[in-house]
Amino acid sequence: MTTLLTPPPEKSISEIADATEKLSDMNAPEPEHCPGPQSDNAGKSEACQTCDNKDICTSLPKGPDPDIPLISKRLESIKHKVLVLSGKGGVGKSTFTSMLCWALASDDELEIGAMDLDICGPSLPKMLGASTNESIHASNSGWTPVYVSDNLGMMSIQFMLPSEDSAIIWRGAKKTGLIKQFLKDVDWGDLDYLVIDTPPGTTDEHLSVTSYMKEVGIDGALIVTTPQEVALLDVRKEINFCHKAGIKILGLVENMSGFVCPGCGNESQIFKPTTGGGEKLAHDLNIKFLGSVPLDPRIGKACDNGECFFDLYPNSPASDAILDVVESLRDEIEGL
Ligand code: SF4
Repeated sequence: MTTLLTPPPEKSISEIADATEKLSDMNAPEPEHCPGPQSDNAGKSEACQTCDNKDICTSLPKGPDPDIPLISKRLESIKHKVLVLSGKGGVGKSTFTSMLCWALASDDELEIGAMDLDICGPSLPKMLGASTNESIHASNSGWTPVYVSDNLGMMSIQFMLPSEDSAIIWRGAKKTGLIKQFLKDVDWGDLDYLVIDTPPGTTDEHLSVTSYMKEVGIDGALIVTTPQEVALLDVRKEINFCHKAGIKILGLVENMSGFVCPGCGNESQIFKPTTGGGEKLAHDLNIKFLGSVPLDPRIGKACDNGECFFDLYPNSPASDAILDVVESLRDEIEGL
């Protein structure tokens, strides 16, 4: 059984943040080449010499994080852990994550968890239909996820905010502390899939989640892009990050690939690829292309209402495309 660092009182974000007090005492944001305040080189590297946090970082405990075994223990009852990544914001990553969760949870045999690690822009609760009044409950066994259906639970910082419009203005160290608590203290029970939605790019959140989950293992990353070169450019960076972090790339999905008219059902190209789009990129980089999902304005509406798009429009081209992608992903993960 895991002991909570901080009892998570309902809607009290400040108390949860205080659990990372030592790190949050930083005088300044970590500079670009920061080795990490808890790394062996903290306070010693070249970047540290001109950093205002040098004294704090020099005094922080070094060595392996003692919480990593607790995180591994907590997550060992989860069969598959999948990160959802995108190089750029605005490509529909969280939208796709919500549909991935709905699609997995449509199989009654599966138990699904969704973890929203977009600390500064949590949107998954709304997309999955969680009430904005939900708050996190704690028991001796940990933090209880918020359930949006019988077999789909979720965790997000949104449930700790005093109001839906509250802004999170946190530095890296505080975010890291919360992510650690999400991984260590949420009582998911036995899950088939934990889907982890991350912010765009390669941020503190990515570094934290990959380092904390190193021991227990991540099945891999699903990368979401649009056909535009400007999005694909950043996808290449994301792929490099995965290689460096030792995360397997499960595949790439191209979102907003064509537009399906809700009236006539015809599909047209709005974001026409200039360099071949996601499929060519996947081919060039030797990663699996999981499929293309067309733009359908009803997807956005369903997400805004927290409804399952497949239930509303089961025979639409977008539903078929998303379900095909999810099937390919499951094949890749489960080796069917
Ligand atoms: S002193 Fe700390 S915050 Fe600053 S660069 Fe070094 S490790 Fe990073």
